[in-house]
Amino acid sequence: IESLTVQELAKKLHREPSEIIKKLFMLGVMATINQTLDKDAIELIAGEYGVEVEEEILVDLTDLESLVTDDAPENTIERPSVVTIMGHVDHGKTTLLDSIRNTKVTEGEAGGITQHIGAYQVEVSGKKITFLDTPGHAAFTTMRARGAQVTDITILVVAADDGVMPQTVEAINHAKAAEVPIIVAVNKMDKESANPDRVMQELTEHGLVSEAWGGDTIFVPISAKQGEGIDTLLEMVLLVGEVEEYKANPERRAVGTVIESRLDKGRGTVATLLVQNGTLKIGDPIVVGNSFGRVRAMVNDLGRRVKEAGPSTPVEITGLNEVPDAGDRFIVFEDEKTARQVGETRAQRQLVSSRNEKSVVTLDNLFEQM
Ligand code: GDP
Ligand code: MG
Repeated sequence: IESLTVQELAKKLHREPSEIIKKLFMLGVMATINQTLDKDAIELIAGEYGVEVEEEILVDLTDLESLVTDDAPENTIERPSVVTIMGHVDHGKTTLLDSIRNTKVTEGEAGGITQHIGAYQVEVSGKKITFLDTPGHAAFTTMRARGAQVTDITILVVAADDGVMPQTVEAINHAKAAEVPIIVAVNKMDKESANPDRVMQELTEHGLVSEAWGGDTIFVPISAKQGEGIDTLLEMVLLVGEVEEYKANPERRAVGTVIESRLDKGRGTVATLLVQNGTLKIGDPIVVGNSFGRVRAMVNDLGRRVKEAGPSTPVEITGLNEVPDAGDRFIVFEDEKTARQVGETRAQRQLVSSRNEKSVVTLDNLFEQM
C-alpha cells in the first residue's frame, strides 16, 4: 500500500476518521478527512491499533483467526487427541470422566492431587489423550456457537438400561455437524436391566451402526461405575486418533481456545487454555479474546507448575488483564507491545459494538427516548 486517504485508512481500521485525525494531530500532523497519507504515515497510525502494513494488504492483527496460518506438513508431528464425553443426563458422563481420571492420571503420581481445570490428560500405552470435562455440552454448544472447534473425538455415553434419549440425539447431531468421529460407550453394563442390543438398534436409526452389524461405528460396553471396559474404550480412542492423524507444529507460537476462566481473589485472572497448536511458554505475550497480558504462571492438570505446554495440552494460566470467555481464541504474539495494542483494540471494538447494539432505535425504545 503506497497511499490511502484518512477516510480510507479509518475504514480499514474500523475507526472514525475524526479519531485518525486526532491521532495524527497528536503526532504533529494536521490532516483533513480527504488528505492522502503516505506509507510511513499509514504504518505509524496502523501500528497504534496493532495492525501491520505488509506489501499489498493491511494485515489486521486483531483478526486472530486470520493469523492462524497452516503448517507445512514436514513441520508437524502427532499430537494427542482431544476428547469430549457427551450423552443424556444421568447416563454416566461424570462417572466415566472420574473413572478414566482415577484409573489413569494418578498412576505413578503417588498422592498426586488432580486439579479441576476443565480438562485433563491421561496416558495410555505411552500416548497421551486429552479429555475436556467442561460441564454438560458446553464444550460443544458454547464453543462451537462461537466458531471454536476444540474436540477431535466424541465419546457418546448411552446407558444400557435406558437407551437413546433426547440428549443422546442432540449429542449425535452436534458431533455430526462438527464432523467429529463418535465412539459409543454403552454404559451401566453391570446392571441387571442392561440391554445393549436395544441401544445398538436405536442408534442404527441415527446412522450409528456397530461394526458387528456391518457398520463402522465403534461400540464399547462399559461400566463406568465399576471401571470395566475403560481400558478398551481408551484403546479405541487411540485407534481413532491414529486413523485421523491429528498433527501440530510444536515449534510455532501457541494458538488455542479458552476452556474455562474466572477471577481468583489471590491470583487474579485465571484461564484454562487448550493449546491447539504450537507451544505456550511462561512469559509469552498473549491476546486472549479481548484480553491480553503475559503468561505469568502455568499450572497443569496435576496442579504442577510447568514452564511450557505443547499441542493438545490444557493448562491454567495467570497474567491476563481481564477475564476472557470460554470459547475465546488465544494467540501468542512476538512482543508485548503488539499484544497490548491488539488486545486493547479488540476490547475497544467490543465496547463500541455493544454500545451500538444498545443504541439501535426500535419503535419500543424510540418512545422511551422521547
Ligand atoms: P451424568 O449426568 O451423565 O454425568 O451421569 P452421572 O455420572 O452423574 O451418573 C448418574 C448416575 O448413574 C449416578 O448415580 C451414577 O452412580 C450412576 N452410574 C453411572 N455409571 C454407572 C454404571 O456403569 N453402572 C451403574 N450401575 N450406575 C452407574
Ligand atoms: Mg454429570
